[in-house]
Amino acid sequence: MTEPRFPLPTPEIHVWVAYLTARCNFACDYCIQKPQMIPGQRRKPWGRYRELTGRQWVDALNAFPVRPEHPLILTGGEPSLHKDFAFIASRLEGYALDLTSNLTFDIDAVAREMHAHGARFATSFHTYHPKFIAPEQWLDQAERLRDSGMVERPTFSMVQLQRFPHFRDDEHDRNLGKLLELADRRGLIYQFNEFRGTHMGKAFNRDRKYRIDCTSAWVNIDPEGSVYNCQFHLTERKNAFGNITAIDSCRPLPAMGEFFACSDFGYCDPCHENSGHGAFRDEHGRIFRRTDDDARVYLQWMEPAAIQAVARRYFAQGDLEEARHALLAAIGKQRESGADDGETWADLGVTLYETGNQRQSLAALLHAIESGVTRTETVASALVVARELGLADHARQTILRYVPAQILDRIETAIAAVRQEPDTASR
Ligand code: SF4
Ligand code: SF4
Repeated sequence: MTEPRFPLPTPEIHVWVAYLTARCNFACDYCIQKPQMIPGQRRKPWGRYRELTGRQWVDALNAFPVRPEHPLILTGGEPSLHKDFAFIASRLEGYALDLTSNLTFDIDAVAREMHAHGARFATSFHTYHPKFIAPEQWLDQAERLRDSGMVERPTFSMVQLQRFPHFRDDEHDRNLGKLLELADRRGLIYQFNEFRGTHMGKAFNRDRKYRIDCTSAWVNIDPEGSVYNCQFHLTERKNAFGNITAIDSCRPLPAMGEFFACSDFGYCDPCHENSGHGAFRDEHGRIFRRTDDDARVYLQWMEPAAIQAVARRYFAQGDLEEARHALLAAIGKQRESGADDGETWADLGVTLYETGNQRQSLAALLHAIESGVTRTETVASALVVARELGLADHARQTILRYVPAQILDRIETAIAAVRQEPDTASR
């Protein structure tokens, strides 16, 4: 009689993940540990559990007759919030351990425990979250971890949000800039990691569920020890294969490449579809991994003022097409609610000019002025664009309906002086 096969697959492509907790001391709006990411809305990971104790984790995992060929990742939420985090990390035997953490734990205390038991993480991954910890403090922690010897190859990272200003604000940019400057000065090596979003565009907008074939190389263990091969099902506590504390009763997980039917496609967790540890097969037999990562989809959940701030960030970093798109989206939303904000039109006018659309730029600037934005810079911009188009007289007539002639003359004189042109204001 053949021995029943151990239910958890171990090949190199498989990723074993122990979610020690689903709690976190931060609340990042771009956290992928929960669905429906909305810019500006603070988020926490997905739920509350009766967490396994450290002793239960260690007894269960150390009793396994096999080990994954790749590291076992201790993660969360923030795994160090587990009350027995140091115990678990220092007592697991035979695993190449990996850790993801936001670096807010007492590194010296954990390192002492690890050293005392001859334990060491093989790798670790630490992301800086600029809204929740000061750059100096995070950098101190990163250096302490690097120098503690408790991790062989630690990785320090930042989320790449250049294309996603929706999830940034001034505080974010200021702290990140400061961190990069300090890290460079102090010689800490770091990387930017891909922002995974939640794929609320096209096929993954969670508007409905689809039936599809799926294959997965995940071995996900939730904080209560239940085993899943899909992160969405882990967070929903659906389709568990068994529990690590009763591994003999656990159903075998399908191997990677072994397709199984799932009717929850469309609600998949972004990690699954992005990481290469999962794949899908549609009704035509086409196998695919991921969808478009379209930053524009986030605009639909934002207020016009927030969209305008996004547009300004895009403009400042030279992404003019994205700035233009965002401003049009803001104007569309304002119109839906019967509003018409001249400031948005003024920004649009400047952006259109920079993209080479002078005529549209002039129209937008004049509309901004008609809506009450009569600041010198807006009026001057309109006049300059109008002159370039040979439409100075037309623009002047329109502007005079909203700006006193005396002020308009002064602005035209200033423009002429800057351009060293003859004074036309007295025409
Ligand atoms: S630190 Fe990580 S787990 Fe916690 S809220 Fe931020 S992204 Fe989510
Ligand atoms: S199709 Fe999506 S929800 Fe279904 S098992 Fe695969 S990853 Fe999970």
